[in-house]
Amino acid sequence: PTAERERAPEGPLRTTDGHAVTLRANVGLEAELDPLRPAPPDGIGLLRTELFLRADGDPRSVDEERQVEAYRQAIEAAGEGGATIRLLDVGGDDRRSQGAAEAHEGHPVLGRRGLRVLLDRPDELLRPQLRALLRANREGPLRILLPMVTDGAEVRRVRRILDEESTRLTENGVPHDANVPLGAMVEVPAMALQAPAFTELVDFFSIGTNDLTQYVLAVDRANEQLAARHDALHPAVLGLILRVVEAGRMSGCPVEVCGEIAGDVQAVPVLLGLGVDTLSVAPPSLPAVRRIVRATGYDAAKDLARDVLQADDAQAVRRRARAWVDTHL
Ligand code: PEP
Ligand code: MG
Repeated sequence: PTAERERAPEGPLRTTDGHAVTLRANVGLEAELDPLRPAPPDGIGLLRTELFLRADGDPRSVDEERQVEAYRQAIEAAGEGGATIRLLDVGGDDRRSQGAAEAHEGHPVLGRRGLRVLLDRPDELLRPQLRALLRANREGPLRILLPMVTDGAEVRRVRRILDEESTRLTENGVPHDANVPLGAMVEVPAMALQAPAFTELVDFFSIGTNDLTQYVLAVDRANEQLAARHDALHPAVLGLILRVVEAGRMSGCPVEVCGEIAGDVQAVPVLLGLGVDTLSVAPPSLPAVRRIVRATGYDAAKDLARDVLQADDAQAVRRRARAWVDTHL
């Protein structure tokens, strides 16, 4: 019965003092869409399409029609909250998608990855995916998310290509909807530092703390021996999150957090305190995140965030965050 009650949406999610929080789901595999039925109240905040497409092996082997069908399913599973679909984030340290990145690189994580690969080979990967998304966008609320954005020129190029593909679909009489929000993952420090400039270029920000932490702390996220050091609760990472939140607030550009830290119960009050009001988490974390949001006061969380930003390492932040959660949950 407890599990049942936790699965039920129970109306809008709010802190103890009534501040509304949006909670979306991260999904990676077609199979993960099934447990989402009935739809999560606030939709899908991150769909990692490289996992979708890799079901067929090399992402290049997946044709546009199959993508349209996959995105339709995602939109259906996401319900009214809508589906946020990220363009292929191939390359990097992800061996399974290195076929698409191809070139052997000394430091793949700093190499041709995400948007860099897509813009290098637009005809093969980027254009078919954008066409499929424009077509699926007729089926319900959809947003496009760009992985590994580093500078503004990249976003401008994607917008231009999106316009070109929409024009081409129109010329060919293919039904689609060109009115689709375009957001940027904030996972490269340069992007976070320049967030105010990016508010002119994108419709929303989604902070990917897994990569942002890796790049800010110079800690390989896949290195198990460094796992304890890869902690998004490091004050340097939190400072960048605050910077992005403030840039978003100044310009009306929504900011959400979709990295693993958003599903970490100890971190949630800190994130709320930094002004983050939209979280996207792996489906198994949804009930626990709902519970901690409902136990957190927004003003008290602000005090907590102010306090932990003064720390000089992640351990100190964790100690304070853990103590805070223990007294409030
Ligand atoms: C991230 O980097 O935080 C993120 C959400 O993307 P991924 O884990 O797929 O790299
Ligand atoms: Mg990432």
